[in-house]
Amino acid sequence: MSILVKNAVKTYGEQRALNDVSFSISSGEVVGFLGPNGAGKSTMMKIITCYLPKTSGDVRVCGYSVDDDPLEVKKRVGYLPETNPLYLDMYIVEFLRFVAAINNVPKSRVEDMIDLTGLGPERHKKIGQLSKGYRQRVGLAQALIHDPEVLILDEPTTGLDPNQLVEIRGLIKQLGKEKTVMLSTHIMQEVEMLCDRVIIINKGNILTDQPADALRNASQTKAVLVRFTGNVSTSALRKINGVVRVKQLDKGLLVESEKHIDLGQELFKFAVDNKFVIEESRPYELGLEEVFRNLTGKEAS
Ligand code: ADP
Ligand code: MG
Repeated sequence: MSILVKNAVKTYGEQRALNDVSFSISSGEVVGFLGPNGAGKSTMMKIITCYLPKTSGDVRVCGYSVDDDPLEVKKRVGYLPETNPLYLDMYIVEFLRFVAAINNVPKSRVEDMIDLTGLGPERHKKIGQLSKGYRQRVGLAQALIHDPEVLILDEPTTGLDPNQLVEIRGLIKQLGKEKTVMLSTHIMQEVEMLCDRVIIINKGNILTDQPADALRNASQTKAVLVRFTGNVSTSALRKINGVVRVKQLDKGLLVESEKHIDLGQELFKFAVDNKFVIEESRPYELGLEEVFRNLTGKEAS
């Protein structure tokens, strides 16, 4: 077992950030740790990486307890914190050499990490001169330098522009082939793309822990993306029998209904009755989005 968390509790003063949390992650798994802001994701990750003591419970990495063997845990864990604290005045190579020295790994690892994370083109720059995407690469290089078995990535793609997002996700996907990865995010798409399994946490409680596929099938509604000629109001669509939600997207209207409804039929009837023409209508994969909303009462982004 790569990560074992049993009855973990963390209180900050009066506040319980983690409330009896238990889960385990096997070697080689890529697990999405999903939840809205304030759910307890970062707190859990800081405990696993020995950056924060827990209040009670048992937390182990590769069998080593974070209380009894923090050094053994740190050897096996690479951590990219949410805020990715970097020394902005340092050059990339200088910084990574420094990290290599602290971790007691040969300097040659620095070059390996630069290659692995694609830092080559920017290698002569100071960290402060890098884009957010490249800073995340430095963060990943730092996390990987001691070749840990387990990677803990706290919202690694937050704040990246679309191109950087694709690149960093690609890099994480590649790393996931060799390492155990626990990745926190509030982006549903990211989980769908990268993770085998999803743990959803809200207000310090684990709400569900399932393979990504199983969770998708648990969805109680289905949806169609539809485009009409002319202006159709979302409120008119909401009145259709069985429709639970309507959302305006760039590509059209996302109409979500109870699972048993023949939504295509209902929309057709609606169009005929109101003299609208349907330009396009196609099934829309709601996936984890809806499951997340049902479990947490919040929209995922
Ligand atoms: P997430 O990463 O899911 O957004 P966090 O683990 O950062 O959630 O926070 C969980 C809860 O604990 C939040 O309500 C947050 O306000 C609180 N919290 C986090 N860090 C501290 C701290 N250092 N002191 C007090 N409360 C904190
Ligand atoms: Mg956080």
